[in-house]
Amino acid sequence: MSKGILLYAELTRYSEDGQYVHPVFFELAAKANELSKKLNDAPIYAILLGSKNLVENFKEGFTENNIDTVYVVEDERLQDYSTEYYSKIITDLTKEIDPEIFIIGATTQGRDIAPRISSSLHTGLTADCIELDINEKGQLAATRPTFGGQLMATILCKNQPQMATVRPKVFKPLKEFVKKDTKFITKKANIDDIEKKVNLIEFLKNPEKEESALEDAEIIVAGGRGMKDLMGFEMLKEFASLLNAKVGASRVAVEMGLASHEMQIGQTGKTVTPKIYIACGISGALQHTVGMTGSDKIIAINIDKNAPIFDIADIAIAGDVFEILPELINMIKK
Ligand SMILES: Cc1cc2nc3c(=O)[nH]c(=O)nc-3n(C[C@H](O)[C@H](O)[C@H](O)COP(=O)(O)OP(=O)(O)OC[C@H]3O[C@@H](n4cnc5c(N)ncnc54)[C@H](O)[C@@H]3O)c2cc1C
Repeated sequence: MSKGILLYAELTRYSEDGQYVHPVFFELAAKANELSKKLNDAPIYAILLGSKNLVENFKEGFTENNIDTVYVVEDERLQDYSTEYYSKIITDLTKEIDPEIFIIGATTQGRDIAPRISSSLHTGLTADCIELDINEKGQLAATRPTFGGQLMATILCKNQPQMATVRPKVFKPLKEFVKKDTKFITKKANIDDIEKKVNLIEFLKNPEKEESALEDAEIIVAGGRGMKDLMGFEMLKEFASLLNAKVGASRVAVEMGLASHEMQIGQTGKTVTPKIYIACGISGALQHTVGMTGSDKIIAINIDKNAPIFDIADIAIAGDVFEILPELINMIKK
């Protein structure tokens, strides 16, 4: 019988007053449900930390996602994320739960905390995975890009828990919710001896992030080197606004100063899963496509009919973006 799969349910703040379970948790929960079946219905656990009313506020997110047991730690000192407090509590709880697998979202918080926990537990961590599976020996097979994104490596961990982080938007949340009789177990924060080294003074909104919000867009129009210059990107933005779409970019377009880093899609940028992804003047390098292959429909416009992007496109338009986009813009306007 498997010892189970543990997930970290990160609480995040989008505003001064609102706290939410980070959406990546629900994506991880869907994957954990899939892995659990391959491990003969292994139990799924979650850890939730915060200051107050955690079960009242967030209960349904766990019952609807088939989580068996949630370990809850409420303490005023956990109001805001603290590396020292959070890593101590999660490490202690993980020792107690003793899961076979522990998965954390590769968010800013997850990337900070996961290596600390894995080193305290003397186990391995595969970071920034893009796929998780169970191999024929029942081990976690964690896949991530390697050698600068030239190859995909599937990594096994010798020790337990086998730990992995996964970026937001790599997995899709459950399509149909379940109704589980989830058990909530309250634990004390054992942090009296821990020195907190950083205090949060103020939350500042990132206006660029607000503006782009690529991860939640239903339609994305993305530009690459083929858009040539800022005028080319202006045309892309006009096309996007007519479609009610957000604008994304390849890394080369960002490096050329045509778009901000917030708009970059790919291995070192965002992972997106829109309903429609329109790639304009983007060649389709693996480092770009790992960030967008989860899109429902991919449309690519490229002057080179052998461009790799056409291998993954549902609709391939071989031609000059500077002829095709103005025509499309005129058609939509009419
Ligand atoms: C460690 C590492 C991490 C990386 N991370 C990322 C990442 O996160 N995101 C990312 O995007 N890249 C990333 N890269 C870079 C990646 O390898 C590619 O270099 C990059 O994606 C190429 O961008 P591009 O498609 O815009 O440019 P190019 O590869 O130069 O392609 C431009 C395309 O435009 C087409 N084109 C030119 N003119 C026109 C026209 N008039 N009409 C239509 N088509 C035209 C060309 O045919 C060509 O296919 C990374 C690389 C490394 C090594």
